Amino acid sequence: MNVLDHISSQEAMALENKYGAQNYHPLPVVLSKGEGVFVWDVEGNKYYDFLSAYSSLNQGHCHPKIVNAMMKQAQTLTLTSRAFYNDMLGKYEKFACEFFGFDKLLPINSGAEAVETALKLCRKWAYEVKGLDINKAEIIVCNGNFHGRTTTIISFSNDPVARKNFGPYTDGFIKIEYDDLQALEEVLSTNPNVAGFMVEPIQGEAGVFVPSEGYLSKAKALCEKYNVLFIADEVQTGIARTGEILAVDHENVKPDVLILGKALSGGLYPVSAVLANNDVMNVIRPGNHGSTFGGNPIAAAVAIAALEVVRDEKLAENAEKLGQLFRSELNKYIESTDLVNLVRGKGLLNAIVINDDEDSDTAWNMCLALRDNGLLAKPTHGNIIRFAPPLVMTEEQLLDCVSIIIKTLKQFE
Ligand SMILES: *Cc1c(COP(=O)(O)O)cnc(C)c1O
Repeated sequence: MNVLDHISSQEAMALENKYGAQNYHPLPVVLSKGEGVFVWDVEGNKYYDFLSAYSSLNQGHCHPKIVNAMMKQAQTLTLTSRAFYNDMLGKYEKFACEFFGFDKLLPINSGAEAVETALKLCRKWAYEVKGLDINKAEIIVCNGNFHGRTTTIISFSNDPVARKNFGPYTDGFIKIEYDDLQALEEVLSTNPNVAGFMVEPIQGEAGVFVPSEGYLSKAKALCEKYNVLFIADEVQTGIARTGEILAVDHENVKPDVLILGKALSGGLYPVSAVLANNDVMNVIRPGNHGSTFGGNPIAAAVAIAALEVVRDEKLAENAEKLGQLFRSELNKYIESTDLVNLVRGKGLLNAIVINDDEDSDTAWNMCLALRDNGLLAKPTHGNIIRFAPPLVMTEEQLLDCVSIIIKTLKQFE
């Protein structure tokens, strides 16, 4: 058998189980094709994608404009490393800085790497600009956070599965409750060593927790008052997902440090970035930080195309409009049942909370039934299902999906 021969779903899953490290627990469906809001499995069954690779595919699967940009660049120049200049990186940096309104961008690959970059940037700024004593800087983070999987990042996670037996952990982080301004001010007003506050504008992995209105703008004001950097992790919420280009735009907040990833590439290729103004970013000097693939020409071409699609196809507006419709349609159903407690979210980043406990397998079983009815979603907890379709969805498709979801939930009444 040739290694690229066609295989069945059963064979594909068996191969991953035998030869792959078991660091994920995938829903049993084996995908082999994607286009727009749809994916197909190896048997040819068609599904709506309601996860979008954790909001990486905001522009839809295989968007032709992004695919073309990638193919053209792949045939021209793929990688130079930053040992030399390339003719794409500067163009991308200018485009993205103007798109998001910052002076400078630091290009890197994955979301976790971008978070690490922001943490290093924040500490160096604290010593060299704010004037903290060396090695004393602390960064405030929130309970229930998800910022990635590196050793430093899991050091301040609350998730025992992500954390246990990976110590010793990195020092220098203070955890407070999410959506709690009093807790934030208490630390800021009593601890002179705080360098930054890193926050997700909506906690995606925790189950799409939307903070109270005014939380982000007031937290930003507190950070200004105490001369602390406000670091927004928009890896999941950014790039039009929540109905604005950035989720902080809902409160007109301008972060000191912005972290992007996922949909920055339209789901084609790992691309992430940290953006900041010169007063912060200029503390980074040659040799301080980098990555062999960070800022490569393919990534630059892909990211420009991905952002152009968001702008030209008005994906933020579409996410806002369809999000309202999604929540109002689901709310009509929720009023009539005890099965689901609520739907929450912003734009097309939403979740339903099922009336069951956190460690139940109800959400998992519902996702299996959704799959059988032609829609792919994934639980974030035993009783929470996240719904995050590509933002290129039409109203008609969204209503079709709502009826699949309600039909499926009714099977569990
Ligand atoms: C997915 C995610 C990350 C990590 O991104 P990776 O590309 O998986 O490393 C970081 N922060 C948030 C908010 C995320 O959703």
